[in-house]
Amino acid sequence: MLCDLHTHTHNSFDGFPEATAHAMAQAAVDAGVGVLALTDHCEVNGQVQGLYPYFDQSASFAEITAARDAFADKLTLLRGIELGQPMEHPEQALTMREAYDYDFVILSLHNIPNIPDFYLLRTDRMSEQHYHMLYDKLLDAMIASVAFPGVHTLAHVTYPARYWAEAGKQFDIKPHIPRLTKLFEALCKQGVALEVNVSTLWKGYGFAMPDREVLELYKHVGGELVTIGSDAHAPCNVGNSIADGCKLLLDCGFDQIVAYKEGKQFFVPITL
Ligand SMILES: [Zn+2]
Ligand SMILES: [Zn+2]
Repeated sequence: MLCDLHTHTHNSFDGFPEATAHAMAQAAVDAGVGVLALTDHCEVNGQVQGLYPYFDQSASFAEITAARDAFADKLTLLRGIELGQPMEHPEQALTMREAYDYDFVILSLHNIPNIPDFYLLRTDRMSEQHYHMLYDKLLDAMIASVAFPGVHTLAHVTYPARYWAEAGKQFDIKPHIPRLTKLFEALCKQGVALEVNVSTLWKGYGFAMPDREVLELYKHVGGELVTIGSDAHAPCNVGNSIADGCKLLLDCGFDQIVAYKEGKQFFVPITL
C-alpha cells in the first residue's frame, strides 16, 4: 500500500485551483495511494508578520474533514498541516497547531529568520560559500525547531539543494554532515520522523530530499522513523514518484513508513 503524506489543497497559497480536498482524495484512490495526508501550508511567520499570503486554517480543516468523511471507505485520509517556521513565533505557532484536531503535523523550514524563502533567492548570482553558509543557518534553525511540541516529521531537510539545482549547480552535502548528524540526533531524541520528499524526483531533478547519502547518515545515527510525500499541489501529482522513494528507502535499510491518526502512531510496511 502506498502512502503519500505530504500534499496540498487549493487552500495553500501555492496550491492549484483544481486541488480541492475532494479532488486530491479521488486522485489518491486513482493512484493506488491507501494513506493520504493533506497538509496545507501554515507559515507561522506568514500568519503573524504577513511574510507569506494569509492561510485560512478553518477553511482548510473543514474541507479536509469533509473529504475524509466522503472517502472513509476508500482511503485513510489524515487531516494534516505543514507548520512552517514555528520557532519564529512559538506561542502563535502553538495556538495554530492546537486550534484543530490534526492527525499529522509536518515541521517545515522554508526560510531562515529575516531572510526570504529559499525559493525566492537568486541562487544563480550567489557564491557557493554564501549558499553553504545559509544552509548552515537553516540547519541550526531546524535543530532548534525539532523540540517544538506536537510535530511528527521534518520535511525536506535538504530543501536548498533544489534551488541550487535550479541554478544548474550541484549541491555538495559533505560540509554539512556534522550539523546533519546533530539534527538527526535531535530527531531521534524527540521521536520525530524524517521525511523523504520526492517532489524533486517527479520534477526531474534526479534526487530526493534528502537523497541516499543523507538517509544513510540518518540510519547510521539511529534514525528509524521515516515518512514519505510527493508534495503534490495538484491532483495530477498525487502519488508521483512515491514508489521510487520507497525503493530508495528500502535500499537504505528502512522497511516501513510511520504515520499518525487521532493521536496514535501506526506503521505501513514498504512493499514494491
Ligand atoms: Zn515545504
Ligand atoms: Zn509542502
